[in-house]
Amino acid sequence: MRAEQSPADRFADEERDERMMRRALELAQQAIDFGEVPVGALVARGESIVAQAFNLRETLHDATAHAERIAITLAGRSLGSWRLEGCTLYVTLEPCPMCAGAIVASRIPRVVYGAADPKAGACDSLFQLATDPRLNHRAEVRGGVLARECGEILTRFFQQRRPSPRISE
Ligand code: ZN
Repeated sequence: MRAEQSPADRFADEERDERMMRRALELAQQAIDFGEVPVGALVARGESIVAQAFNLRETLHDATAHAERIAITLAGRSLGSWRLEGCTLYVTLEPCPMCAGAIVASRIPRVVYGAADPKAGACDSLFQLATDPRLNHRAEVRGGVLARECGEILTRFFQQRRPSPRISE
């Protein structure tokens, strides 16, 4: 955390975080059209969005095609550097161990996520990879931004997809 931040700066950050997370939620919504689990992510530098993505695991037949992993790849291409200095990653669901690894590897200084993932979350819930002092990079992590909306889009998706249970089973 940046202790030197004034209350006005913090308010500006929080306002931007919510605005960017709303955009990430729109990206998550787009994933549904592809039959994908709705997770959206974007990488921003200040006010400018440098990469946006949503989960494409089914479409690409790729276990690594998580929204934030793709956003990190696209951000590197867009900025011409694998080091995503000065960037913030926004993602609607807490990153998994693979994506937390990508966060550390890309040196992203700040991560903001929406819903916590008690089954796979690797920024707070199960592991704290992005803030582990033993690794060579640590990100500032802020969770719980629009957590209810980010969680609800997933809950609704799984409720609609799950066929009603058959009595014979
Ligand atoms: Zn992941």
